Amino acid sequence: MAIQSVRGMPDILPEQAGAWRYLEQQAQQIFDAYGLTQIRTPMVEDTALFARSIGDVTDIVEKEMYTFEDRSGDSLTLRPELTAGVVRAAIENGLLHNQTQRLWYQGPAFRHERPQKGRYRQFHQIGVECFGIADARMDAELIEITDQLWKQLGIRHAVGLELNSIGSPEARAHYRAALVDFLSSRKDQLDEDSQSRLDRSPLRILDSKIDSTQALLVDAPSLMDSLTKEDREHFTALTSSLEEAGIEFKINPRLVRGLDYYGRTVFEWTTQKLGAQGTICGGGRYDGLVEHLGGRSTPGVGFALGMERVVLLMESLDVVPDMYQNQANIYLMPQQSECESVIRELARTLRTHFPKLRVLTHIGGGSLKSQLKKADKSGAAIGLIIGHTELESGHIVYKPLRGGEQEMLTEAALINRISELKDA
Ligand code: ATP
Ligand code: MG
Repeated sequence: MAIQSVRGMPDILPEQAGAWRYLEQQAQQIFDAYGLTQIRTPMVEDTALFARSIGDVTDIVEKEMYTFEDRSGDSLTLRPELTAGVVRAAIENGLLHNQTQRLWYQGPAFRHERPQKGRYRQFHQIGVECFGIADARMDAELIEITDQLWKQLGIRHAVGLELNSIGSPEARAHYRAALVDFLSSRKDQLDEDSQSRLDRSPLRILDSKIDSTQALLVDAPSLMDSLTKEDREHFTALTSSLEEAGIEFKINPRLVRGLDYYGRTVFEWTTQKLGAQGTICGGGRYDGLVEHLGGRSTPGVGFALGMERVVLLMESLDVVPDMYQNQANIYLMPQQSECESVIRELARTLRTHFPKLRVLTHIGGGSLKSQLKKADKSGAAIGLIIGHTELESGHIVYKPLRGGEQEMLTEAALINRISELKDA
């Protein structure tokens, strides 16, 4: 029996990889335009890092982590998200001393969840973390970055922004008491998970995906009413910044997010098109996290998007440009072995002239008919053929593979013709 991939850890096959590359390239372009710099941290961290940052009483830490003991007996964990590692690295390497940092990252994360469409055990995130800036305009700029990315990808019309403030620790303590008070008298109507959270982590009940629990919460006190004056000012500054930038949002007073380190701003981008896994991106402010992890008190704000979900959305909306889906633009076919070196030299010339085009040379001989079949399958729009006749006359057969007249061209004329292609 052949060995299979690990459940919930799918391969990204060539036919999907184009969409992934498109997403990565668009994101990197936008991050560059906003002056962010990249950070790459290890996939494995000390287990204590996640327990301390994400929080002990979270789904992630309680049920979802891949934790193991290595050969030295150390407890290590495959990162379930990337923020904790980025904060650790920033503290450890002195990136936060007397300076601000606007960082982006990309890479796999691991959670032992029930695999389904849009939910996997190895998945990938692209994210941004910004340190040293407490101003709500930074929160707004991060949201603007995501808004730009959706626009650039052509999926903006299919996603919406939800926003909330979960306030400062004092506000949350105040609200926590009010919520526990409200829910305690209705405990028997709560789902089992939420019942057990009532004592340990009542705010997380707001995040419950159980309909009956959500129905019960309709009349619950609102977090907004517990916010301090400073919390409110921060939130108002954020919403006015977003209005200025022309970014529509919906305030969702029950949005809390599943990680412990957030305070004040939280936001999510959601879509109706992916069923239950509709959140493609989530983020928020975490002003206490750096200090909590042993650094000097430093404000922070960030977001992470789930690449699988964004790619699923891009595919369902059919927005991936052709050039990311095809293997080739031009397919060169030598008809006899004497033409091999000439055709390979021509391919090199074309690659130098047209660095954006994918130039594939046929290797392995065969009849013209079989070569043309392979050319067609490659997705190329143009076939170039050199045989005895062309070798002698110094011409190249230019054969449009998707309709159009075949021509005989000199190399100079060929280069001219190709520069007219839309992808060149
Ligand atoms: P959900 O509520 O869907 O479980 P989450 O709140 O656990 O998401 P975050 O920890 O905020 O998610 O991660 C940020 C983003 O990463 C999510 O919005 C989602 O797009 C993606 N994501 C999270 N978990 C998974 C997973 N198991 N498989 C694929 N994508 C995921
Ligand atoms: Mg989750």
